[in-house]
Amino acid sequence: MTLLGPAEIRDLAELLGIQPTKKLGQNFVIDANTVRRIVRVAGVTADTSVVEVGPGLGSLTLGLLETGAEVVAVEIDKRLAAQLPLTVDELQPGSRLTVITQDAMVIKELPGTPTVLVANLPYNVSVPVLLHFLETFPALESAMVMVQSEVGQRIAAAPGSKVYGTPSAKAAWYGEWKTAGQVSRQVFWPVPNVDSILVGFERRELPGTEDERLATFALVDAAFQQRRKMLRQSLSVVLGDSATASARIEAAGLKPTARGEELTVRDFLAIARTAG
Ligand code: SAM
Repeated sequence: MTLLGPAEIRDLAELLGIQPTKKLGQNFVIDANTVRRIVRVAGVTADTSVVEVGPGLGSLTLGLLETGAEVVAVEIDKRLAAQLPLTVDELQPGSRLTVITQDAMVIKELPGTPTVLVANLPYNVSVPVLLHFLETFPALESAMVMVQSEVGQRIAAAPGSKVYGTPSAKAAWYGEWKTAGQVSRQVFWPVPNVDSILVGFERRELPGTEDERLATFALVDAAFQQRRKMLRQSLSVVLGDSATASARIEAAGLKPTARGEELTVRDFLAIARTAG
């Protein structure tokens, strides 16, 4: 036995006196096939240096370690973080695991240089955690994460799609996103009341500088805060007034009457670049 099944998860939770909390998005994977599937589609091998957010009781962590990969795991819940090395020592002694007890939303440094992010993310904070990691750890070349289905669709959406919005445009700043398959809610304990999906990420060269990113993200936020309005109106909040907004949108080669959902992140960047 090298991975956790339903009985081991139940025993561990009982041992630690843990009642999974909604606040921390604690839904633990109890199915070894799902774990191995995630590890496989993430492309993790013995040579990979992985960072995992929210290892919980260690279901996915053990699947990653099983390949021989090196894993840094960031867990906010102190009891879970303290237990994880013990579980791993028992089931897969000699594994290369470092556990960090910290909030993944604000972590600024990681030991080593992980190049792949793999996680079953806490659902309520999945987008901010992803954006924080991509921004803070440029060495991350790829990611494979499990998120709430609607959130995953949104992250991977292209302009023109009904679900295209702020997370799609911001996530696209860093690279390409694709959904990589649904995951049944039955593989979790407790069973969540939402569906899950895998989304994969491949980093691409950043389209602009950090200042340009901030200016672009401000435009994205403004455009989707009033997503039904035309850009000349929604962007006037950050660009001054609608005449200035129109002039800058046109200078970027776009239509002031378009709506945010039609623009790629590079289009927003083009508008940001018309400044001064
Ligand atoms: N990886 C485990 C699995 O697949 O069974 C657990 C996944 S569970 C959906 C999310 C995990 O993220 C929990 O262990 C929770 O305590 C942790 N977590 C929640 N918020 C966090 C944060 N801000 N930083 C780090 N970990 C967090």
